[in-house]
Amino acid sequence: MSNIVAIVGRPNVGKSTLFNRLLERREAIVDSTAGVTRDRHYGKSDWNGVDFTVIDTGGYDVGTDDIFEQEIRKQVQLAVDEATSIIFMMNVEEGLTDTDYEIHELLRRSNKPVYIVINKVDSAKEEVAATEFYQLGIEKYYTLSSATGSGTGELLDDIVKDFPTTDYQDPFEGLPKITIAGRPNVGKSTLTNALLDVERNIVTDVAGTTRDSIQTLYNKFGHEFVLVDTAGMRRKAKVSEDLEFYSVMRSIRSIEYSDVVIIMVDATQGWESQDMNIFGLAQKNRKGIVILVNKWDLIEDKKTNTIRDFEKVIKDKIGQFQDIPILFVSALTKQRILKAVEVAMEVYEDRKKKIKTSKLNEVMLPIFEQTPPPANKGKYIKIKYCVQLPTPSPQFVFFCNLPQYVKEPYKRFTENQLRKEFGFTGVPIEVYFRQK
Ligand code: GDP
Ligand code: GDP
Repeated sequence: MSNIVAIVGRPNVGKSTLFNRLLERREAIVDSTAGVTRDRHYGKSDWNGVDFTVIDTGGYDVGTDDIFEQEIRKQVQLAVDEATSIIFMMNVEEGLTDTDYEIHELLRRSNKPVYIVINKVDSAKEEVAATEFYQLGIEKYYTLSSATGSGTGELLDDIVKDFPTTDYQDPFEGLPKITIAGRPNVGKSTLTNALLDVERNIVTDVAGTTRDSIQTLYNKFGHEFVLVDTAGMRRKAKVSEDLEFYSVMRSIRSIEYSDVVIIMVDATQGWESQDMNIFGLAQKNRKGIVILVNKWDLIEDKKTNTIRDFEKVIKDKIGQFQDIPILFVSALTKQRILKAVEVAMEVYEDRKKKIKTSKLNEVMLPIFEQTPPPANKGKYIKIKYCVQLPTPSPQFVFFCNLPQYVKEPYKRFTENQLRKEFGFTGVPIEVYFRQK
């Protein structure tokens, strides 16, 4: 369940300062798509143990009044469409401006909770000056010093308290959840429709089950699975340069709801940074991954090495986690789309596979004996025992005498051995070394 908090407001009121504070040490995913006037940021935060995603709708350059007006509308629209809660930030230094009135007017018409925040209230003096903002006709505002963090606690208490409750019963509990992610125009809707087409007996299309996600149950060819779609996905964003950003925002949510992420790329375009972002999100969330290279019908020269070359391009970019199925499909001609579903189901099964402790030890201990971790400062590392944790995705603990000496290359070696012996294609694995 992912709640999204968006920060909107004029430039220089302190949005990015607050954003950075909320993220603290957490890593921001920087969306530096060409065509976006300035980097937009989004990342994960939490307050009192409640997770949420923050968007700094941030950035536009101050241009002519026309552009300015347009940009603000866009930013507010984005927040209204995508966020659970909206922080509308102004600042006491510049006081209440015409633009603030306009933004407030736009937000007033949305049905999302809006938290009005007056920033740069660094002392009692500004606290008094802030009363000017009552002129907006509001009943409450929060005063904040983003620079020092004072006031953020009260604000976050209220935001988190107002998050929609999640005590809903998932009608598809226990069924494989799959999401189709990818940049705009790669063919996600075409694939969804193609699946609908082969799949005449859709059982349910439960709108609003999780407030903002649509789950469609597919049941045919011996496979039962749920396609997770966020509500906004079927509606195209109005503003073209925001498409990339919208699609990533949606991916964040649907990825969290899913077990397996199908990442679609366009064969005529190749693997780009935006695909890498989606891949990173899926991997960090420890979801199963299948890569579909779509529009394969458009590739005329289909020699074996065309496939191999394409695979290489992708594998060169995705980093260490290489054991991922890559399929070449056409959503349009429906070529190999059932194969894609089958592979996604295999990944799903592998992700929840549990290796019996006895089997795991029987297989892994001799491997460690054969190829032990390199000795460190004359000390030998002995791995004595291993278990798989009862987590949703595979995580293994290896007990040994000197876990601090087990370095990254050996962890990778262990992961590769697990993959080789037990087969976890498309599934991120975690490997931990611990003292017994
Ligand atoms: P944005 O354009 O809305 O994202 O604004 P920034 O976060 O970039 O902040 C604009 C300027 O205001 C920067 O120089 C910040 O250091 C400063 N600033 C942000 N928050 C505060 C605050 O609480 N108090 C004071 N005095 N300055 C702040
Ligand atoms: P989405 O934005 O990812 O949902 O992409 P769409 O499904 O809307 O597809 C974008 C465009 O690509 C449409 O014009 C589709 O007809 C076209 N398209 C999608 N899949 C294929 C394919 O496999 N082959 C070809 N030639 N065109 C495709």
